[in-house]
Amino acid sequence: MKAVAITAPGEARVVHVDEPSAAAGEVLVRIRRVGLCGSDLTTFLGKNPMVSYPRVLGHEIAATIEQLGADVPDAWQVGMNVTFTPYTACGACPSCRAGRRNACRDNKTLGVQRDGALSELAVVPHQKLYASPLLTVDELALVEPFSVGFHAASRGRVQEADTVLVMGCGGVGLGAVAGAASRGARVIALDTQDGKLSLARTVGARQVINATTSDARQAVMDLTGGNGPDVVIEAVGAAATYRQAVDWVAFCGRVVYIGYGKEPVSYETRMFVMKELDILGARNCLTEFPDVIAFFERRTFDPRLLISRTIGMEEVPDALAAWAANPGGTSKVMVTVA
Ligand SMILES: [Zn+2]
Ligand SMILES: [Zn+2]
Repeated sequence: MKAVAITAPGEARVVHVDEPSAAAGEVLVRIRRVGLCGSDLTTFLGKNPMVSYPRVLGHEIAATIEQLGADVPDAWQVGMNVTFTPYTACGACPSCRAGRRNACRDNKTLGVQRDGALSELAVVPHQKLYASPLLTVDELALVEPFSVGFHAASRGRVQEADTVLVMGCGGVGLGAVAGAASRGARVIALDTQDGKLSLARTVGARQVINATTSDARQAVMDLTGGNGPDVVIEAVGAAATYRQAVDWVAFCGRVVYIGYGKEPVSYETRMFVMKELDILGARNCLTEFPDVIAFFERRTFDPRLLISRTIGMEEVPDALAAWAANPGGTSKVMVTVA
């Protein structure tokens, strides 16, 4: 069957791989949609230290169940549309023992530490499956990035009384906006592109700031009575925004980092102490798939607005190259596999 692999940094190809078959407890699925995200671009560029090559991409997935292995519960039936979590958990490391399987020390995410689902078929343990009869396959493929954003809101203990600044409105950042807004918080979204900011409004941001056309720090302070936000969620991964999160957050605030830093960051560390900050990392997601599915099912906005481009498998190599040449211009590329 066909799959799309990054064969070396800067080089993607359609390759042929063996068809998988479902063992006991597994289902065989036909892949329908795969979303590409910033981490796939990082892999394509050779800048993801967790990836070795060749690597089949694909961790934001919608699929249709094709065949059931032995001992799969009746809840799962051939023909159902599903999405599934792309992570693994060893069950034994300190994270897993603490009930935080999303941060498993030995986690192997599809398309990162092991081959992903950007192929015609895949096998999945039934425990990883989630279904919704109401959502389209495009929407099911958006559940994973939104769940990562929802998890960041959970890590920040976002509550109704909070003002939350979300820096960066890619797929995960928009999920953080939606996650914080659905907890009742007032959300301010920050990005450099008006298109992403208008999407942020549709998923729940009450105010937006374009960092290229305004003094972002001043705008944040004006909107928070000079105090800064109670929570800052950083979904960019750049040194400047890593620092701004700490500089702008309110005293006794919470800073949540989801953006993967691509370089070392130097800090005015006295801010950590002086403000008595909670500085938190957020990785993958834990229990958020059902929350995001319920959020999409409420139909407060059309998740398909997030998709900036739809392509076929054969077009993935060129699309990755174009994205690498213009990283800011793309929010979500959706691959139609079947
Ligand atoms: Zn992703
Ligand atoms: Zn573990």
